[in-house]
Amino acid sequence: MQGQMMHMPLRIIEILRYAAETHEGAGIVSVRCEGDIHRESYAQAYARAAQLAHGLAGLGIGAGDRVATLAWNGYRHVELYYGISGMGAVCHTINPRLSAEQMLYILTHAEDRLLFLDLTFVPLVEALGAQLPEGLRLVVMTDRAHMPDSALDLLCYEDLLAGQPETFDWPGMDETAAASLCYTSGTTGHPKGALYSHRSTVLHALFLSITIARSLHEGARILPVVPMFHVNAWGLPYAAPLVGASLVMPGPKLDGAALHDLMETEVVTASWGVPTVWLGLRAEIETRDRTPATLDQLVIGGSAAPRSMIAFFEGQGVDVCHARGMTEMSPVGTHAQLSKGMRVDADTALGLKAKQGRRVFGVDLKIVGEDGAPLPHDGRAAGELYVRGNAVISGYFANDDSSAFDAEGWFGTGDVATIDPEGFLSVQDRSKDLIKSGGEWISSIDLENIAMGHPAVANCAVIAIPHPKWEERPLLVVVPEGDARPTLDEMHDMMLEHMAKWQLPDAMEFVEALPLTATGKVSKLTLRRQFEGYTLP
Ligand code: ADP
Repeated sequence: MQGQMMHMPLRIIEILRYAAETHEGAGIVSVRCEGDIHRESYAQAYARAAQLAHGLAGLGIGAGDRVATLAWNGYRHVELYYGISGMGAVCHTINPRLSAEQMLYILTHAEDRLLFLDLTFVPLVEALGAQLPEGLRLVVMTDRAHMPDSALDLLCYEDLLAGQPETFDWPGMDETAAASLCYTSGTTGHPKGALYSHRSTVLHALFLSITIARSLHEGARILPVVPMFHVNAWGLPYAAPLVGASLVMPGPKLDGAALHDLMETEVVTASWGVPTVWLGLRAEIETRDRTPATLDQLVIGGSAAPRSMIAFFEGQGVDVCHARGMTEMSPVGTHAQLSKGMRVDADTALGLKAKQGRRVFGVDLKIVGEDGAPLPHDGRAAGELYVRGNAVISGYFANDDSSAFDAEGWFGTGDVATIDPEGFLSVQDRSKDLIKSGGEWISSIDLENIAMGHPAVANCAVIAIPHPKWEERPLLVVVPEGDARPTLDEMHDMMLEHMAKWQLPDAMEFVEALPLTATGKVSKLTLRRQFEGYTLP
């Protein structure tokens, strides 16, 4: 028997309409590429999204057309998120840190009709020049006064909006219609696109709001360091307006000092980003001997948050919520907030927070062995993590490759993980980063986690080095803190408390900096290339 309720399609634009109508005090604060600070309420953003939708229609954009963005976190980017998806087109965010080759590949693969770009990225697009797909029109996200001189044919964002009506008759498309598109950085092969729907996006925003409510509530002021070109900034541009939280957008400046300043001047209550950015903030807090007073929570994900990092921020009175996600999951799948009913001592709590946590509503997790059979959730058995849920992809955009899905349609993440009886997921490694030694494997994440606790280690990574007898052995690559140089023996002593002797790194090398991926994570692929031919002692 069917229920007898109205069917209202879930649509992204409804989030901004709701925020405009009900959250008067909230809005978007942006550090602009033009150099100043800009403020607008959600009501203003909603009106401007309508103007933008008229501008897009005027340029011939219609339902299902892909419209690309190459931009930092800022109010115009938020207007694009809502204006493009709201009028039925697909907002395709492009990561500016991709190689020229990858960028051209995805612009062509997505068949983008328009590209909106921040002032900062004009030189980058000029360099692509004649290789840009034919017919792609370019819009610079600035006003007439700041339009750059360029040999390219550039349209101006504010001109596109000027004089347009502040209301738009948003089309009532199906909730399963495509709304936005994001390509994974593709460490091997071509990047692949995750094509989010209105339904998956709205549900993900709702799931986030009820799960990470310490960040997401009315009156909160959230600073997304995670860029809007990376998995919709983890859903914050949707979840924040939904709950009545303001967004504090950092624009192009993401170093520790700039973030510390912005957190203080804009009374930021929560901030979300990958571990590498928190290394910068931590250094700044130590230099200034001051933590931004209103900062209440950091959400850390994208790669494993080391225990020592969690301990540092918690010691400053900042709650740390470790989360795991991925492009294919919209992205958030698990979070390590401890429930109020859990009675654990401080050390156990820290250990749990260093895991990737429990599933969010709408996501199911399973780990499977090499034969594809499910493994027990006993905290010991490790296998590949498979997921399913309302905001998980069912295939890649315009790509027939279905090898990531099992016979029941679950998506294989490529992560090797354990799940304990309380449901806490612990990612051991990405399967391609695991170190296989003598038929057993070693988790690079575990070794890094311990090494990060040494005061002379600013950052580190563990990679596999081919070995004639053992197949692979671990090499620890360290960015030292100042002039200090930890010894391998010191590292071994620390590691022996938690690891078996045969799992310890065979050697340690020092580097000035670790290579980063386009999403700001340590690039083990590049690091392995840097150490190609390295002989272990
Ligand atoms: P990219 O390939 O560009 O890194 P994603 O952002 O989709 O793309 O990366 C997802 C992967 O990042 C996950 O499969 C997982 O390996 C890793 N990851 C994400 N969050 C965490 C976390 N909290 N701890 C450990 N690994 C994580």
